[in-house]
Amino acid sequence: MTNIEQEVASYYDKLLKRNAGEPEFHQAVAEVLDSLKIVLEKDNYYADYGLIERLCEPERQIIFRVPWTDDNNQVRVNRGFRVQFNSALGPYKGGLRFHPSVNLGIIKFLGFEQIFKNSLTGLPIGGGKGGSDFDPKGKSEGEVMRFCQSFMTELWRHIGEYRDVPAGDIGVGGREIGFLFGQYRRLANQHESGVLTGKGLTWGGSLVRTEATGYGCVYFTDEMMKARGESLDGAKVIVSGSGNVAIYAIEKAQELGATVVGFSDSSGWVETPNGVDVELLKDVKENRRERVSAYVDETQGASFHDAGSIWDLSADVALPCATQNELGGEHAKKLVANGVKYVAEGANMPSTPEAVEVFRENKVSFGPGKAANAGGVATSALEMQQNASRDSWTFDYTDGRLHTIMSNIFKMSDETAKEYDREGDYIVGSNIAGFKKVADAMLAQGVI
Ligand code: GLU
Repeated sequence: MTNIEQEVASYYDKLLKRNAGEPEFHQAVAEVLDSLKIVLEKDNYYADYGLIERLCEPERQIIFRVPWTDDNNQVRVNRGFRVQFNSALGPYKGGLRFHPSVNLGIIKFLGFEQIFKNSLTGLPIGGGKGGSDFDPKGKSEGEVMRFCQSFMTELWRHIGEYRDVPAGDIGVGGREIGFLFGQYRRLANQHESGVLTGKGLTWGGSLVRTEATGYGCVYFTDEMMKARGESLDGAKVIVSGSGNVAIYAIEKAQELGATVVGFSDSSGWVETPNGVDVELLKDVKENRRERVSAYVDETQGASFHDAGSIWDLSADVALPCATQNELGGEHAKKLVANGVKYVAEGANMPSTPEAVEVFRENKVSFGPGKAANAGGVATSALEMQQNASRDSWTFDYTDGRLHTIMSNIFKMSDETAKEYDREGDYIVGSNIAGFKKVADAMLAQGVI
C-alpha cells in the first residue's frame, strides 16, 4: 500500500466507526474515496487541511419530530431529516424523500452524492438532502397535506433562497411540493419562489423540470453510445421503476427510436416487447396512482410478472431508475450475458458495488447516477435562475440548456477519466471532476 492508500484506508476506518449502522452512506463514501486515491497520488495538496475529512462530515444535520393527525383522528408521529452537507459552491440543494425506508444513513448517502452531482452540473449549488419515513402510499390527499404542513412547520426556519433549496425525490412530486410551498409561504409571510424547486408552472415552476431527470439520463446514454459509434435508434432498453424518472426516460428513449422492453414498480415488473404506451403509463401512475398491473390490464402485448426480475430481460441498454441497490452482482451478470452494453443510472446508487465490478470487467459503458441523473437537479438550478430574474423560459430553450449540461457532464467525465489514465471509466471521471471543483472552493474558503 502506498502512503496515500494507507491514509485513505485509515480515514475510511474512522468514518465507519463514527457513522455506525449507516451502510448506504459507507457505500457511497467508499466509492468516492476509491476514485480520490488516484487524485491524491497526483495532487497531494488535496490531502491537506483535513479536506477529505471535512468533505465527509455534513455541515449540519437536522432531525425533527413530525406529528400529524390521520383521517381517523389518530395522532401519528414520523421523523423528519434535512442534512445540509456542503455549501462551498452555493446554497444546499437536493430533494426530499418520503419513504418508509428513510433514515439518517440514507439521507447522508444521498446528500453526499448530491455534492458531487451538483458540482458536475457547473451551476452554483451545494449539496443537501432530506425527507421522512412517512409513507405516502395509501394515504388520503388530506393526510398527505397535513403531513406536509407539519413537516414544513419545522423545516421552514432552516431553508431559504440563499440557504437551502429542497425539491422532490421518491414520494415527493408536484402535489407534495405544492403543500410544502403553501405552508412555507404562510409561515414566512412571503412568496419566496426560490425556496423550493419543482413548483407548479403558474407559481414559479419551470418547464422541463418534471421531465428533466429521465430526459437527462437518456441524453447521457446517447453520449455514451455515440462515443462507441452507436445510437439509441433501434436499440432495446430496459427501464426499471415507473415513477417520475422512469416515465420520462421511457418517453425520451422511445422518441429517439428505441424500444423500451420493460418497466417495474415494487409490486413486480412488466414485459413490453413492442414498446411502452407512455400516455397510458402516465395515466396509471401519475393520475390514478395505481400499480403497474393496471397497465397490463388495459393494453395488448404486455405481461406482468411478480417472480424473477426485470434484469432477466435481454436488451442493449439498461437504465435503473427505481432506487438504491436494486441491481446486484447476479443481475449484472445476467444483463451482460443477455447483451447489455450500456448502463446509465437514473436513480441514486441503484447498482451495488458487485454489479459495478461486473460492468467494469465486461467493458460495459457505465454512467453513474451522479453524472447520469444530474439533469433533475440541473433543471432545478435553472428554475432558481428563472425565479431570481422573475422570468419563465420556453420548453425548447430549457430543454436545450438541459441537453447542453448533460453533454458537458459527459465530456467532463470522459476527459477527466482520460487525464487520469482510466479512459472510459465514467465513475472515476465524474467523481474526480465533481470533487475538484468543490475541493478547490473549500481550500480557497479556509478551514470552516
Ligand atoms: N432528488 C433529485 C436528485 O436526486 C433532484 C434534487 C433537486 O432538484 O434539488 O438529484
